[in-house]
Amino acid sequence: MEKTGIIWTEKTWNPVTGCQKISQGCKFCYADTIAKKYAGHAAFPNGFDLTLRPHKMRDPFKWDEPSLVFVNSMSDLFWEKIPEEYFVQVLEVMKKTPQHEYQVLTKRPELMLEYSLKYEFPENMWCGVTIEDKKNLHRLEILKKVRAKIKFISAEPLLEDLGSISLKGIDWIITGGESGFHLWKREVSLVRGLVDYDKDTKLWIPKPHCIEWIRNLRDIAKRDGTFFFHKQWGGSFPEAAGRELDGKTYNEMPKYPGDKLEINNEYLKHIEGKRVIDKKQESFHQGKLF
Ligand code: SF4
Repeated sequence: MEKTGIIWTEKTWNPVTGCQKISQGCKFCYADTIAKKYAGHAAFPNGFDLTLRPHKMRDPFKWDEPSLVFVNSMSDLFWEKIPEEYFVQVLEVMKKTPQHEYQVLTKRPELMLEYSLKYEFPENMWCGVTIEDKKNLHRLEILKKVRAKIKFISAEPLLEDLGSISLKGIDWIITGGESGFHLWKREVSLVRGLVDYDKDTKLWIPKPHCIEWIRNLRDIAKRDGTFFFHKQWGGSFPEAAGRELDGKTYNEMPKYPGDKLEINNEYLKHIEGKRVIDKKQESFHQGKLF
C-alpha cells in the first residue's frame, strides 16, 4: 500500500511505473519528476522508463479494509508498451478483490476500449480519461464506448474551457488546476494556471474566467446526472487557492468502498481532515476571500 496526497482516492497501487508524455496535460507530470529524481534507487531503478513490478501485484490481497485505490498513479495502465499478458494479471487481481474499488485513469482510451471489448472488466474497476483541453475531447467519446460499470473524467490540469459537452453516461467528473513550484514562473501560470499569485495578499487567487470554466463543468454535471468533485484550484501546491467554488466544496463521488450504495461525502471529509492547511489557506477556507 502506498499513501497518497490525491484526495479523491485512498491509496495508490503501482504494479507498473514509467510512462511517456502524450499530450499537454503531461508537460509537468509529477510521476516523471519523481521517477527521474529517484532514478537508480530501489523504487525507480529505470527512472521513468517502463518498469514492471510483479512483486507489487498481490498487494491488494494484503489490505484488511475495503479501499479506494488509484491504479498506476506513476504510469498509464493502457500505455502500449505494457505487455498485454501483464495487463491481464492486473485485471485478475482487481476481479479477485471485489472489496476494493479501483480507479484506472488513462490518456490512452483507445487501448482501454479495445481491452474492455476483449476482456470483461469487473464492476469494481472504474474507467476514466483525462481531458485537459478541447483537443482531447475525443477521449470522452471513446470512453462512452468503453464497457465499464463506472466511467469518469479527470479534467486536471484543466487548460481551457471545454465548452458545451455532454456528460451523459459519465458517472463522475473531477476538476482541478495545475499545481507545483513551476507555477511560480509567471510565464507558466499565465498560460497553464487557473490561479494568479497576488503579491499584496500573498495568496493564490482563482482567475475569474477560469472560475467560469469550472462552473460550466459543474453545471453540465448537474444537468447530466454526473457526480462532481472539484479537487483544487492549484498554485504552488495543490490546494494553494483552496477548493471552494461559489462558497461550496464539491466532494461528490459515485460510490465508496465496502458499500454498494451511492455517494458518501463523510468519507472524503475523513481524508481531508488529515491534510495540513497553512494559516493563509485557513483564512481562505473561512471565506475571507469569497
Ligand atoms: S500519461 Fe500520465 S503518467 Fe504518463 S506522462 Fe502523462 S501525466 Fe505522466
